Order: sequence, then C-alpha cells, then structure tokens
Amino acid sequence: MNLKLLNKMELDQRIKSLVGKERELLHEILLTIKEIDQRKLYLEFGFANLFLYLVDGVGYSAGSAQRRIDAARLLNEVPSLGEKIQSGEVKLHQVSLIQKAARDIYKTTHKKVTAEEKKEILEQITSKNFQESQKEIASFFDLPVVEVTTQTVQADESVRLSLTISKELAEKIQQAQALLSHALSSNDIVDYITYVTDRVIKQKTSVKNRAEEGDASSTNNVYEPKITATVEVKPFSPRTKKILINKDQCCQYKDPMTGRQCRSRWFLQTDHKQSRWAHGISTIENAQLLCAQHNRLKYRQEAGLKYISR
Ligand SMILES: [Zn+2]
Repeated sequence: MNLKLLNKMELDQRIKSLVGKERELLHEILLTIKEIDQRKLYLEFGFANLFLYLVDGVGYSAGSAQRRIDAARLLNEVPSLGEKIQSGEVKLHQVSLIQKAARDIYKTTHKKVTAEEKKEILEQITSKNFQESQKEIASFFDLPVVEVTTQTVQADESVRLSLTISKELAEKIQQAQALLSHALSSNDIVDYITYVTDRVIKQKTSVKNRAEEGDASSTNNVYEPKITATVEVKPFSPRTKKILINKDQCCQYKDPMTGRQCRSRWFLQTDHKQSRWAHGISTIENAQLLCAQHNRLKYRQEAGLKYISR
C-alpha cells in the first residue's frame, strides 16, 4: 500500500486500526509468555529464568521483557487484565508498577499482595496516566516514595552507581567499617566494598590442599582402603565445589536440542553428572556445576527414569 496516497482522515483511521491490532497481538503474546512460564519451558531451552529467555532467546530489550513478564503473571492472577490490555485502558508500565509494589511489599514485610488486592488497584488505575497510577498505587499500599538504584557504565567501563539505603543498613556499614578499620586504607565506601568483595571471592574459590584442610576422607585413606559404597553415599565437599567454580564458573546445563548452555552464575550447586540413584559416585570427574533451577529440572526429568529403573 502506498501511504502517500491516503488522505489525513484515512491515515488517522489506519493508525488507530493498526494500534488496535497491536494491542490484540500483545494480548496473544502475554498469553503465550504465561504458558511458557507455567511450564517452565525456558529451563529446557537452556535459560536460568524467563527474563533471560525473553532477552537472549527471543530478542526483547530488558525493560520490554520485564514489563511483559509482569503483565503475563498478573494476567494469570487477574484474568480481567486481558480485556483492559486489548482495549488500551491499562498499559504495560502501569502493570509493572503494581507488580513492583507487590515485590517490594513482599521483600520488606514477607506479606503477599493477594490477587483480590491487585484486582482492586487495577480497577483504580484503569484509564489513568503513569503519574496518577504511581500516586494511586503508593497510597493504596501505603508505600513510601523510594528512589531507585541507578547503574551507568561510563566511557572507561567504570560503573557509576547511585543508590538509597535504609538508616539501619547505613549504620551497619559504618559499624563494619569501624570493625575493619585496621584492614581498610580509608573510610571510603569503595575501599570497604573492595575489601569485602575480595574476601568473599577468596573464601568461595580458594582451594586448600587436602592436608591443610584436614579432610576426613584423606585420613581414612591412610588407614583403610576406600570402600566404594561410602564414596557413593558421601555428598560432594565444599572443596569440590570450589574446584568446579575455578574451572567452569557457571551452570553447565545445555539444551539437548540446540546445545545452548545456561551459563548462569547464580545459586550454583554441585551435581552428580551420573546421578547417585544410578550409582554415580562423588568424584570430581562425575561432578558439575548447575544453577539451582537446572538442578531441579534435571531432578524432575530423571524422577521418571528413576522409578522405571527400580
Ligand atoms: Zn542453569
């Protein structure tokens, strides 16, 4: 179609009709994301979570992916959101405001915002703009206005961080800085963060040799031959995990279809490649790092096999 041939009114009608279709398509996309989320299919595709799948696997920007996840999950709790998205009465960024408020409330009070509460606030912000929705949500949940943490990568690849912390956390940091004053070169917060970060990395990755560690199994070896059965039941030692973190650094799960590897560095666990129920033993050769999500997926996938083999 040659748009140049359309008059003013026709172009106005055309854009409105296209936007209507766009909203219908968005609704379809949200329903699809909801289904993928509920079946946790992103795990099988080799992603540690739905967000990474939508960004790295589907091609959304981080913000677009998060807004769609927020909406797909709210759609699950409050199905009437579907009509409001299709009619355009509620926009994705308003939905994200509700979901973010619910997450913040859970983080600070461990109280879950109910589906009924979400439905109620959704009605209140219907057809409102962003600022009005922000105010409605803050007063509905009685939330303070919190400045968000911003993180900007600068030209020299250093990162500029701006964050707001509670009075309690500020006091704790000051106390910790005072306790470490013998080790820190100044009372600059960056010195403190550097010191603590280095200590955590060293503690979690440095592998001592066996004699130094006083490992019980090495002493056993001196007095008696290793019995296979005891190796089988013995779980992996923290030493094994440190060796793996030094070697592999990330989740080793691969989608068998595409070969895509998860590579998440969060919540890493030591897994038996050949599972213990299948007589896999606790040796370093049989050990691999999996993120908690993929460890659980592997367990679920093998659960069926396990019962068949018995
Ligand atoms: Zn993983």
